[in-house]
This record gives sequence, C-alpha cells and structure tokens, in this order.
Amino acid sequence: MNAPAVGLTGGASPLDTRLQRELDSFRAADLYRVRRIVEGTHGVALTVDGRACISFCSNDYLGLASDPRVAAAAQRTLGSSGTGSGAAALVSGYNREHAQLEEELADYTGRARALLFTSGWAANLGTLRALFGKADALLCDELNHASLIDGARLAGARYIRVPHADTGGYAAALADAQAQGGEVGIVSDSVFSMDGDEADVPVLAALARQHGATLVIDDAHGLGVTDGGAMALADVYIATLGKSLGAAGAFVAGSEALIEFLIQRARTWVFSTAPPPAIAAAARAALRIIRSEPEHPLRLQANIARFRRGIEALGSGLPFRLSPSTTPIQPLIVGPAGPAVALSRALLARGYWVAAIRPPTVPAGTSRLRVTLSAAHTDAQIDGLVAALADASADAA
Ligand SMILES: *Cc1c(COP(=O)(O)O)cnc(C)c1O
Repeated sequence: MNAPAVGLTGGASPLDTRLQRELDSFRAADLYRVRRIVEGTHGVALTVDGRACISFCSNDYLGLASDPRVAAAAQRTLGSSGTGSGAAALVSGYNREHAQLEEELADYTGRARALLFTSGWAANLGTLRALFGKADALLCDELNHASLIDGARLAGARYIRVPHADTGGYAAALADAQAQGGEVGIVSDSVFSMDGDEADVPVLAALARQHGATLVIDDAHGLGVTDGGAMALADVYIATLGKSLGAAGAFVAGSEALIEFLIQRARTWVFSTAPPPAIAAAARAALRIIRSEPEHPLRLQANIARFRRGIEALGSGLPFRLSPSTTPIQPLIVGPAGPAVALSRALLARGYWVAAIRPPTVPAGTSRLRVTLSAAHTDAQIDGLVAALADASADAA
C-alpha cells in the first residue's frame, strides 16, 4: 500500500511548515511583501486597491504604457494576427511584426542586428550563459540587477564582484582575470535600478578594449531616457521593452555574429515561445514615438529637476535623504525597513503611491522610497508629492 499523502489529507506538510516559519520571520522583520491591485491603465493617475492616486513608482518613464497610439497598434495586430505566436521563433513563432521590430531596434541602436526576447530576465540569463562558461571570468558591479547576477552564475564563469561604480576596481580585477586565462566579460547595468546612478560606460568600454574583454551593458533604465554611451560602446547591448517603451519583452543588439550565435545557443530564447505579435507591434509604435517626439525625455528631465528642487527646498530634519541621482530614479533613503514602509503608507493615504524598497532588494539599513518620475507627471502632481512628503514626515516625527 502507498503511504498516505500527509499534505493532502489534512495537517500542514513539512514544506508548508518550513515556509510558514520563514514567512513569519519576514513579517517580524518588516520584510513581508504584498501586491496591490491596479484597475485599468498603469498610467500616472490610476486606481489602486479601489482608490484613486498618483503613481510615482512605475518604470514607464515616458508615459507610453497608456499612450492610445501604442494601444491602437497592439489592437490592430491582435485583430490581424490573434493572440499567441504558438511556438518558439525557430519553429513557427516568428512573425513579420517581430522581424520588423528587430530591424527597427537594430537601426535605432546603430547596430547590425537585434534579437527579441520575452523579458529582460530571459535576455540576461540566455545571453550570459551562451557567451561565457567555466573557463571564463565575469566582472560584475555589486549593485547589478538580479537577472545579471543570476545570468553570470548560470554561465558558470568565475564571478568577480566589483565594488559599486569603482572603475579602479575593474582595472585591478581585469589584470587578475586575464592572468588566469579564458574570456573576460565586464557586466554592468547602465543606470542602477534602485539607486538611479549611472555606470561610467565610456571608461568601462576603454578598459574592455585595452584588455581584450567583452563589455555587456544592461540599459533597461536608460533606453529612451538617457544616453550614457551604452548603445554605441557595449559589445553586447541589452535593453527591455517593458519600461520606457511601455510594452513588454527585451532585446539584445550587436554584431551579426553575436546575434547569429545567440539564435543558435541562447537557451532562454531557443526554448521559449515567441512573444505575442501584438506586443511587438506595441513596441514598434512606442519606438516610433520615441524617435519622432523628443519632447518626452525633455519633459522628463524638467520633472526630475522640479522634484529635486522641491525636496531640497524642504530643508533639513527630514526622515529621508535625497540621493545624488540625475535619472528618473530618485530614491529617498530612509534606513530601517519599518519607517520606510510607514512613510510609503502615509503617502498612499494622501493619494501618492511610492514603493518602499527593502532588503534583500537593497542592502540592509538602506531601505528607501523609490520615487520614479515620468514625462507624464504634471507640475502640480510633483509639487503635490513634495507637499505630501513634508506632511507625512511631520506626522512621523
Ligand atoms: C527590469 C530589469 C530587468 C528585467 O527585465 P524584465 O523585462 O522586466 O524581465 C533586467 N535588468 C534591469 C536592469 C532591469 O531593471
């Protein structure tokens, strides 16, 4: 006779007992995470958990996720091409919309070719695993995105953690890595997702060239927003379509040989269903807007400056510290997790949605409100957030 399945016949299974113990510890440390439900579009003015508010926590930096022209392009393609692509691109899932988007992304980035992935995670895991292996070394900024960290680990290469934005650290690690033989890769975010500061891509490119290393840059938060040089200088340029382009997915751009190699060997691409053609159509429409309407990034820069002026004018004695970021990611560093969460809640009660970011996403003791600005924010909305921050801080004191 088979043993009874304890978990199914009542009583907690060993798995659930273990998980519940861990969940309780997350809660006790103010690290428990929950989702909030948005109704309708994910624009600047939205409805979350049934209440209207102004969002300052999206990566939709240019407001294109709710642009009617982008939605209309997706709708037209849904009408002509249906929903799913039905198979991986190497089988039968490769649609004319995908091919055209890849051509347009190659043209936009000034590269020979581009290859469309289902997500930034898939692009980073698949690319690093395909290009590097056990004999190689990867030099990675310590604040790199989780998908770059996991991609480097999956590649099986020697993982060399470089202190944040320390170009001297790269130089030393490069000499070291080269002495051991194998290929060497430099892997970095362009704009760091939780701090908003930027890697010095021109210096990294010069170091890579000098040492015969390969430069891999993830420009998820830079594409369409800031040009830190990654498009022109990275050997392997990776960016997502779900942030400033308001769609979903990601792409790698680079040489003919790079893209052909990824088509043969990037497992997250080879063995994954191609994205819906309608999503490619949405990204194409968004890219057309980015290329023809330079006013959106200009407006975004003005909004960033307005927010910073507003916070600076509040003076001292605040329970947070403004970071020296010039990108749309403007973290307000609080420190401990509990007060960061309390401040986020107090803002939501005042109609402003700003996410509290806690460990393990950021180092312990650096919990923060991650304010992100969009070209779609109005002056009044930005001034309103600053006033609400002042108000909520006075309550917290
Ligand atoms: C968001 C993000 C990713 C992941 O992209 P998805 O398309 O959301 O999977 C990768 N890298 C960086 C730097 C990101 O910010």
